[in-house]
Amino acid sequence: PETGSRPAFDNSYARLPERLFARLPPTPVSAPRLLRLNAALAGSLGLDAAWLASPAGVAMLAGNHVPAGAEPIAQAYAGHQFGHFVPSLGDGRAILLGEVVTPAGERRDIQLKGSGPTPFSRRGDGRAAIGPVLREYIIGEAMAALGIPTTRALAAVATGDDVFREDVLPGAVLTRVAASHLRVGTFQYFAARRDTDALRVLADYAIARHYPAAAEAASPALALLENVALRQADLVAQWMLVGFIHGVMNTDNCAISGETIDYGPCAFMEAYNPETVFSSIDQQGRYAYGNQPGIAHWNLARLAECLLPLIDADEAAAVEKAQSALAAYAPRFGAGWRDGLLRKIGLTAARDGDDELLQDMLVRLSANQVDFTLFFRRLADAADGDMAARALFADPAAFDGWADAWRARLAQEPPGRAAAMRAINPLYIPRNHLVEEALAAAASRDDLAPFEALLAALSCPFEEQPGRERYAMPAQPDERVTATFC
Ligand code: AMP
Ligand code: MG
Ligand code: MG
Repeated sequence: PETGSRPAFDNSYARLPERLFARLPPTPVSAPRLLRLNAALAGSLGLDAAWLASPAGVAMLAGNHVPAGAEPIAQAYAGHQFGHFVPSLGDGRAILLGEVVTPAGERRDIQLKGSGPTPFSRRGDGRAAIGPVLREYIIGEAMAALGIPTTRALAAVATGDDVFREDVLPGAVLTRVAASHLRVGTFQYFAARRDTDALRVLADYAIARHYPAAAEAASPALALLENVALRQADLVAQWMLVGFIHGVMNTDNCAISGETIDYGPCAFMEAYNPETVFSSIDQQGRYAYGNQPGIAHWNLARLAECLLPLIDADEAAAVEKAQSALAAYAPRFGAGWRDGLLRKIGLTAARDGDDELLQDMLVRLSANQVDFTLFFRRLADAADGDMAARALFADPAAFDGWADAWRARLAQEPPGRAAAMRAINPLYIPRNHLVEEALAAAASRDDLAPFEALLAALSCPFEEQPGRERYAMPAQPDERVTATFC
């Protein structure tokens, strides 16, 4: 007899034409062991956490058992990797078990990542190591708590099998929850094959699932493009406002839903500097912090190219329409970034001179290697008269010069600004040295305590948590992590 009830899967993607995916089950592992179940997320999905934690549930989360009702598939997609087009990528180490519909009526993909080889694996082993699995878990949960659209981790399971990278590492499977796994690269796969019928199926599916109002537009494909552009603009603005660096903004890692997807060598910036790069595979800095808004726009242009045959039979007309849809991106991003920065410094609406105030701030933050996260927290304290923000600047006088103008501007705002600032400026972000410490303890000593403690701090990023001061502090020089690996 089983504990609780198993998920009720639907499989809308597996009902699409067969050439969009490959059907296969996950590959079983030796010794499944639950490392972490996200019981709160399970609850919001309408899944039974007790069943998921039971032997039958863990067997599903490990890929050892496919429950009745699930129709496992690996999805086909292509993508530009660091600017170079690869016509066939696809789920090389992931299996979509199926979809669940939440009590709120939202459809969510349930995907296993690290679940064994597929027809898309190329030379890969289809597996994942504990470290990267727990990194995706931590960062995804941190992003969710920050209110940023993201895929999320439902569970992490150790496999009992080794994976062979530069070192021999313990293996794991992540269960990922996503609004969908449609990517810009999904459209590219079929555009590269001149398969307009498949593109139409995909566009209709994306519209029904993510942008239902676009179905009523004169050109639904054009409306889809514009909607995706606006979502990406909003998403990247939110990344920039918390110092998030995705690290691998390839078109296959750009979700049509507007969620952050595929946490590889991602990281949060500490000292503000637009050129910051952590990813060990990003030698040219293509995906540096400050390049992200432009890269998202470039990715959207690749989506636009795919959609042209659906937008207008006349190619010149289609190009013109697509360009005008894409033109919505830059102003939307600019407004999201500017208004977000204004709120971060306590201002409720823009006035003359505010752009200069923000620009001057960013120049001083960068020149003084100021921690991007702590600055805005200390600035909330400064709104209350505390001057600790000064000490974050290599030259504290650089703060004073700006703060006088800021204070004068703040005086024109309604009262209660410090509390409003604390409510939107996180105190806790997943700082790289804390993430590395948690992953190392889990992978090398099987000690999940640092992982759990970090997750707990990150789950309430805006509230000061007594006893967790360490989690709010930037890395000391000897703790600093300068490169991340996927
Ligand atoms: P990513 O860098 O995670 O966005 O992955 C890019 C492509 O490489 C996707 O097609 C993945 O499925 C594939 N891939 C990454 N790691 C592996 C692996 N260990 N085995 C098979 N395919 C992989
Ligand atoms: Mg197929
Ligand atoms: Mg990917």
